[in-house]
Amino acid sequence: MAKKLNRRDFIKISGAGAGTLAVGGKFYSSYASDKSTFYPSDINKEGKIEKTPTYCEICFWKCAGWTYTVDGEPWKVVGNANDPHCSGRFCPRGTGGIGAYYDSDRLKTPLIRTEKRGKQVFREATWEEAFDYIAEKMKEIEKEHGPECIALFTHGSGGSYFKNLLRAFGSNNVAAPSYAQCRGPREEAYVITYGEGIGSPERTDLENAKCIVLIGSHLGENMHNGQVQEFTEAIANGASVITVDPRFSTAASKSKYWLPIKPATDTALLLAWINVLIEEKLYDKDYVAKNTIGFEQLKQHVKDFTPEWAYPITTIKPHIIRETAREMAKNAPSTIIHPGRHVTWYGDDTQRVRAGAILNALLGSWGRRGGFYIPEKAKLPKMKIPKYPTPKRDWRDAFPDKYPMAGLALASGICDATIPTPDKDCSFKGWFAYGTNLPLTIPQPQKTIEAIQNLDLMVAIDILPAEVTGWADVVLPECTYLERYDDLRVSPSNVTCRPYDSIDFKPSRIG
Ligand code: SF4
Repeated sequence: MAKKLNRRDFIKISGAGAGTLAVGGKFYSSYASDKSTFYPSDINKEGKIEKTPTYCEICFWKCAGWTYTVDGEPWKVVGNANDPHCSGRFCPRGTGGIGAYYDSDRLKTPLIRTEKRGKQVFREATWEEAFDYIAEKMKEIEKEHGPECIALFTHGSGGSYFKNLLRAFGSNNVAAPSYAQCRGPREEAYVITYGEGIGSPERTDLENAKCIVLIGSHLGENMHNGQVQEFTEAIANGASVITVDPRFSTAASKSKYWLPIKPATDTALLLAWINVLIEEKLYDKDYVAKNTIGFEQLKQHVKDFTPEWAYPITTIKPHIIRETAREMAKNAPSTIIHPGRHVTWYGDDTQRVRAGAILNALLGSWGRRGGFYIPEKAKLPKMKIPKYPTPKRDWRDAFPDKYPMAGLALASGICDATIPTPDKDCSFKGWFAYGTNLPLTIPQPQKTIEAIQNLDLMVAIDILPAEVTGWADVVLPECTYLERYDDLRVSPSNVTCRPYDSIDFKPSRIG
């Protein structure tokens, strides 16, 4: 028999304590872990202790660690001392990651919706029933609209398996909300300037930096583990920090200069800094001559963007703009204008981050110790899979000429293209959401809900109930990272970088 719950009830499950579980009766008990009253600390440590390598997936930083089990039951997870992502220390979230495994609210069985969307009415299903339901709907969509009308939204390693599924089916519409809503403008700004993105973790050699400029980057308030540790070390080593933030942030409290800028005026400050470096001839002339193109155009472009011009826009006094530009130049090339991470703010994001990338080029910090390192590359064999079919169209067709710089599919774009409008053919009929809570991730949640209501198939794959599972037709319970075999973690770090002299640079486009 179907169990009735409204949307808020469903969400309550994820935050429910033992008392609520008792009230919930049969429905709740089926979602509770068999060990809902079992805690890791209860394990008899006298049992057989084993240690297994892993990497933490509580966030995208993917710190390598060790999982300890006692008689096969996870006990604790700790950092791997050889991993530069964490230097042997997990952050509090990662240390608590074991809780994801034991969470009493975990999804344990596939669910199939039995009433219309918006009402939390599901029935438990077997994996075969759930897969048959999904496969049948996918085939219907393929027949009526084409395989490209199915999209995947993904976050986390496990999403790569669904990417393969979608591509093998004939759709390239794979979006990560973390691209359009977070790091996308940064990646494209650096690709435009250097021909390469910044990647993750960022290729900043903070540990050896002598001057660190944070403009909208509040290191220490986020949990980018290894980066925060390196930042702390840089401060202990006497690096001067320039923090641009309207708030007196944690980073601002550790800074030599705090510039409480008027919000949304960062580009004006960056242009004024470029102006000072050029006008006072403080830029790295050899580096610029050897490695860049467009310097004369840049010089011409910024000639009127003086500190006096920027003052009424930014509220930062001209002498402070000059002094901070000189501080950067004094420490160059070991000066980093940090590229930031959550950079989607005002709509001018790509150009704003690009101005910071250009400043880094003028200071000669790209490919330099204490600047941006160039990671070594190793070739790994590719997984042997049959060739994917070539899709006939993709998400861009819904927005001719609109997002020319986007290197990946935009989650918000797919959402918009799912809502039929008089001028746009609705192209999406099926969504898969892996590890991403779409109603809380994509801006304008009412639009996301409207888009979901227009779908023929909505599948959510997750560890715990959330808003997105509440709107799905089929919910598939996912394993935690502690229970899965994932791909190898491949990522850059400054222990595997090439020395500056051995680098054959592509010229940086600064004009
Ligand atoms: S930063 Fe923390 S949560 Fe993120 S991967 Fe590392 S230990 Fe896990």
